Amino acid sequence: MKRLMMTLSALALGALAFAGPATAQEKASVGIAMPTKSSARWIADGNNIVNVLKERGYDTDLQYAEDDIPNQLSQIENMVTKGAKVLVIASIDGTTLSDVLAQASAGGIKVIAYDRLIRDTPHVDYYATFDNFQVGVLQAQSLLKGLGYPENKGPFNIELFGGSPDDNNAYFFYDGALSVLRPLIDAGTLTIPSGQTGMDKVSTLRWDGATAQARMDNLLSAYYGDRKLDGVLSPYDGLSIGILSSLKGVGYGSGGEKMPVVTGQDAEVPSVKSILAGEQYSTVFKDTRELARVTADMVDAALSGRDVEVNDTKTYDNGVKVVPSYLLRPVEVDKDNWRQLLVDSGYYRQGEID
Ligand code: BGC
Repeated sequence: MKRLMMTLSALALGALAFAGPATAQEKASVGIAMPTKSSARWIADGNNIVNVLKERGYDTDLQYAEDDIPNQLSQIENMVTKGAKVLVIASIDGTTLSDVLAQASAGGIKVIAYDRLIRDTPHVDYYATFDNFQVGVLQAQSLLKGLGYPENKGPFNIELFGGSPDDNNAYFFYDGALSVLRPLIDAGTLTIPSGQTGMDKVSTLRWDGATAQARMDNLLSAYYGDRKLDGVLSPYDGLSIGILSSLKGVGYGSGGEKMPVVTGQDAEVPSVKSILAGEQYSTVFKDTRELARVTADMVDAALSGRDVEVNDTKTYDNGVKVVPSYLLRPVEVDKDNWRQLLVDSGYYRQGEID
C-alpha cells in the first residue's frame, strides 16, 4: 500500500514536472463581466478585450448582464465555478460584489476592476480606467467653449446632469466638471435656474437616456417658460441623446432657436452623427482599444507573477483600500477634430459615421 502511495505521488510529481511552464494553449481562462449591450461603448470594450486576450493565447468567457445586478452576480459566480483565473469586471453597481469576490480571492483568482471601480471590498487587485476627473474637466471646458466664453461674457443659463449614483465614476465626472464650473457659478457667469446641483439632485440612475429626457422635460416646463437655456452638462452620450430629444421637442434647434450646448462622453456613433448634424456639441473619446491593451497587460503580469504596471496609487479609494490603477487619457471630440481622432485613428470606419 505504502509503495503504491509512493508510486502515485511520484507519478503526480512527474505529471507536474511534465506540465512545465504554461504554454499559450494552456493559458488560463479569463472571465469578463460587462454591464450592458444597450450602449455601444461596452460592446466595443467586450470585443476588444476578447480579441487582445485571444491573441495572447487566453481563453475568454464574456458575459453581458443588461444592467441587472443579480444577473451580473450570477454570471460572475459562474465564472468562478468554471475555473477562471482572472476576473475582469465592469460592474453595474460597484458595491454589490463583495461576497462573490471574497470567494474568488479565496480561490486565488485575481480581480481587475474594468473602467468602473469595485467598491467596499478588499478583494479587488487592480483598476484599469481613464482619468475620470479629467473627463469631467474636459466636459466643462467644452461646455464653456461652446458657450463662447470668455469672449462672450454671459450670464448663461445652464443645467447639470450626473451619471448613475451607483457608479463611482459618476462622482469623478461631476467633481471634475464642477472644479471648472463652480467659480463661474459663484461669480454669476453661469446660472442654474432650477437650482438643482449636487449628485443627490442631478444623478441619472443606470445612465438611462429616457430618465434624462424626462428630467429635461420637467426642467424645461418648470423653469424655462420665459427663459432660454444655453447649455447642458451631460456626462454620457446616451443621456445627451435623450436630452437633445427633449430640447427638440420644445423647438430648440429649429425656427431660429439655437440648440443649447450639450456635452457627452464615449463618442458613440449616434452622438458623433449628432455632432456632425450640429445638435450635440461635443463628446469625450476614451479609446477602448487602449483600455483593453492595458487590461490584458495586467492579466499577463498578474498571472506570471511579474509586477503589474500602474500609474496611480493614490486616487481610487474603494472604501476599504486604495486600488492600484492605470489611468488612460481621455480627449474632447467636436466637429473640428472628430475625423482625425475617430476615423484616421481607425476607431471607426468613415462609412459608420456618414
Ligand atoms: C463609463 C462611461 C460611460 C458610463 C455609462 C461609466 O462608468 O466610464 O464611459 O459613459 O459608464 O455607460
